[in-house]
Amino acid sequence: MTESSGVLICGELAGGKPSSITYELLGAGRRLADALGEKLNALLIGDGIGDVAGELIAWGADTVYVADDPLLKDYQPEPYAAAIKKACQKTSPEVLLLGQTSVGRDLAPRLAFALGTGLAMDCIELTVDPATRLVTLVRPVYGGNALAAFLCEKTRPQMATVRAKAMSPVEPDGSRKGEVVKLEVQVDAASIRVRYVETVKQEAEGIRLEEAAVVVSGGRGMGGAENFAMLEALAKTLKGAVGGSRPACDSGWLPSTQQVGLTGKIVAPDLYIAVGISGSSQHLAGCSGSKHVVAINKDPEANIFKVAEFGVIGDYKQALPALIKKCGELVAG
Ligand SMILES: Cc1cc2nc3c(=O)[nH]c(=O)nc-3n(C[C@H](O)[C@H](O)[C@H](O)COP(=O)(O)OP(=O)(O)OC[C@H]3O[C@@H](n4cnc5c(N)ncnc54)[C@H](O)[C@@H]3O)c2cc1C
Repeated sequence: MTESSGVLICGELAGGKPSSITYELLGAGRRLADALGEKLNALLIGDGIGDVAGELIAWGADTVYVADDPLLKDYQPEPYAAAIKKACQKTSPEVLLLGQTSVGRDLAPRLAFALGTGLAMDCIELTVDPATRLVTLVRPVYGGNALAAFLCEKTRPQMATVRAKAMSPVEPDGSRKGEVVKLEVQVDAASIRVRYVETVKQEAEGIRLEEAAVVVSGGRGMGGAENFAMLEALAKTLKGAVGGSRPACDSGWLPSTQQVGLTGKIVAPDLYIAVGISGSSQHLAGCSGSKHVVAINKDPEANIFKVAEFGVIGDYKQALPALIKKCGELVAG
């Protein structure tokens, strides 16, 4: 095994700014680096990255490597993998973290193969034993019904992708010192086998589900698309977003982009209100990081009540109008 040291995280940019997963990876990476007594290196890949690289130091990075090239403007697997490989050659990381995003999901297996190391994807917990220097990589398995812990004992880096919202960023500290280092990557246009065509942005009204502080979700118990107007009214009052369970989305009551759960979005709002949702493990996999859960369900035995802090046992058609009214009064002060 070659000598390896430090933790390397691969940040992501969206519209020229670090996306939320970058701060989450920095948080996870900082905690691991501190436990190992090592440096935290971050890598940003793009074109015309500019000052945002230096900003990552306040968020926990000791050194920010920047791979900046017009050919790296949009995500393409070959040159991005080459840039990360180069950063690995330069830093020989003990731990390498990427986001469980569309980019990370595509890149991580290629990189693990290229680096000859093991990989655990979609991790929600990372802990390190400073004595053995092994990171326990924890990820949900069997549709979220169990958690499996993995160790990468023989090869380096110990590699993982990290689920969005599973890790918290550190408090930014503007007085932290660090450096930004340009990473020379020879991008060979001829090596690019996948051609970037275009990014199609989905138009969304209001607050994005993943960023909302309040999420009001409806399930099969809502009974039809027309009843979601009540959830929208509550979400609007609380400046939140509307989500739903898989059956609600599969029934076309709301777009599939609003699905919460194992095969949908992971949300971690301050308040999650589940209406007519039974609380299957697959649904909870997407909202168990919420600070407070409130449930409205007519079945007192519904699993959702096991995770809800407050609940109404009853028909949502009776409970919701009163809740919307009361919330409206409280918000109005
Ligand atoms: C591999 C896999 C991945 C999956 N991924 C996801 C996922 O990402 N997200 C997801 O949500 N599911 C997912 N599922 C589906 C999951 O297993 C459940 O089937 C689903 O979450 C159930 O949705 P639900 O709670 O809306 O419906 P149900 O389980 O049918 O629950 C409806 C609830 O509404 C209540 N209710 C009915 N009428 C009323 C009323 N008038 N007032 C109040 N309460 C009422 C009922 O008591 C019941 O508890 C996945 C399944 C698999 C196998």
